[in-house]
Amino acid sequence: MTSDHGTDDARLQQLVDGIVRLAAGELSARIEPSAQRDAIDAVITGVNLLAEELGHIYADLEERVAARTAMLKRTQVELEKLVKTDALTGLANRTLLSERIHEATDAGAPGGHVPAVLILDLDSFKAINDTLGHSAGDAVLVEVARRLCTIVRATDTVARLGGDEFAVLVTGASVEEVLLIAHRAWECLQESMDIGTETVWTTASIGICLRNGSSTAEELVRDADIAMYQAKAQGRNKVQLFHPDMLDAVQERSRVTAELRSAAADGQLTLLYQPVVALASGRVTGVEALVRWHHPVHGTIMPDNFIGIAEETGLILELGRWVLHEGVAQLQRWKETAPDLTDFRLHLNLSAAELLRSDLVDDVRETLAENGAEAGRLVLEITESVLMSRETGEEQVLEKLRAMGIGLQIDDFGTGYSSISYLRSLPADTVKVDHTLIDNLETDPQQRKFVSAILQLISAAELEAIVEGIETAGQAAQLLEMGCLYGQGYFFGRPVPAEEILDLVRRQDQPR
Ligand code: C2E
Ligand code: MG
Ligand code: MG
Repeated sequence: MTSDHGTDDARLQQLVDGIVRLAAGELSARIEPSAQRDAIDAVITGVNLLAEELGHIYADLEERVAARTAMLKRTQVELEKLVKTDALTGLANRTLLSERIHEATDAGAPGGHVPAVLILDLDSFKAINDTLGHSAGDAVLVEVARRLCTIVRATDTVARLGGDEFAVLVTGASVEEVLLIAHRAWECLQESMDIGTETVWTTASIGICLRNGSSTAEELVRDADIAMYQAKAQGRNKVQLFHPDMLDAVQERSRVTAELRSAAADGQLTLLYQPVVALASGRVTGVEALVRWHHPVHGTIMPDNFIGIAEETGLILELGRWVLHEGVAQLQRWKETAPDLTDFRLHLNLSAAELLRSDLVDDVRETLAENGAEAGRLVLEITESVLMSRETGEEQVLEKLRAMGIGLQIDDFGTGYSSISYLRSLPADTVKVDHTLIDNLETDPQQRKFVSAILQLISAAELEAIVEGIETAGQAAQLLEMGCLYGQGYFFGRPVPAEEILDLVRRQDQPR
């Protein structure tokens, strides 16, 4: 060894310091070798080489980590996009729309412009799907999406909520601009679409809700939806702006629906029966069952105030089933008490939806059989407007009921637009003329001529007429004179509980 100990110690210390720096991650640190080229320098060179190598490995590792991180980020973005877009149309889906609405409501009303939500529902999409198939339906949805994207601004969000329901979130726009966008959406969907070899037309019902004060994102969508349903109810193909009154009406309806759901089970429904009489003799030939709802708080509710809701919500099927069972059972109870009551018929009202109930024919057949009642004792009353728009399914049901021997009656005749040729084609045997046609019968000669013509028209179609809503002896006499054989109305008897019917039959049977 030529060097002294002090110098070696300093060099060793330098080496140790260098190794410590390297170990601390300072990979660019290098230890200066001496000119001596001795064993310590050999170690220093070795450590420096190692540091160099480590630097390379570390840089390579960093590069790879960066690449992996970028890839992960891309996948995450793609996944997010996938989770938040509608696969068919590429539009935002419900999740993304909801996020954007939350952002918009959190932002308040910059520049005084509140966010607005439009909900659009296609009016005849089911028919397109049913007649042209689902791939044509998909093509229509894609085209609707494309058109909607052309009428909004870059800052707006167009979304598909599912099925044929779309939504647009408009932010930073004045009320006029929002209405303009809604109108443009409505307009662009009116134009025909070429789908394959077919030309397809569709329209949309559009509901708009402008954010009101502190309403939440969820309330904004709910209210736009309510406005859209209002647009549908008003005949579809319309734009409707939400108004708070609509919410009250919806809440009232859902309350009624919930209560009506349990009304039959809770024994709150009853049937009243109104006599149908032969005008010439005053003899009661049957009764019409009319449902009443005895509400524990609101008292007796008339059918006009709940049948509509029952029809809209599908509850009419349950209600109709109850009416059928209760009415036919009552028919049998009367027969047991008064076996001489032959040729006495029970009229039941049937709603359109009931005609499409798959088990209607079987239910009617079984109910009659269970009660030992003949089919000829039952008359089903179906409103004129239902028969006017009847579909194939309904036609078949009517034919089956008729083949069983059940009477079919067109109710509320004169409130729709039946023509004589149409009358002839209907699978019915009696026609009940609506009371509005005889209101001025005694005072208006024109009305008399009109009613007379209607009665002749019914007879020409080989159908039997009955007039409802007869309130005076004069009306009854005039109708009899015109050749009408049957009538119903307060003049002969109001709707009454089942127990009063037999008395009424006996009384009317007395010679007058
Ligand atoms: P509708 O079938 O045309 O029944 C005749 C309506 O006129 C009944 O009203 C009856 O009480 C009323 N009426 C009877 N005679 C007179 C009269 O002389 N003058 C006047 N102004 N009115 C008279 P109601 O009981 O309120 O029933 C209304 C409607 O509710 C019925 O009209 C029928 O469409 C429907 N409805 C009633 N019960 C049922 C049911 O069980 N099922 C279904 N689906 N609908 C029902
Ligand atoms: Mg009726
Ligand atoms: Mg009627």
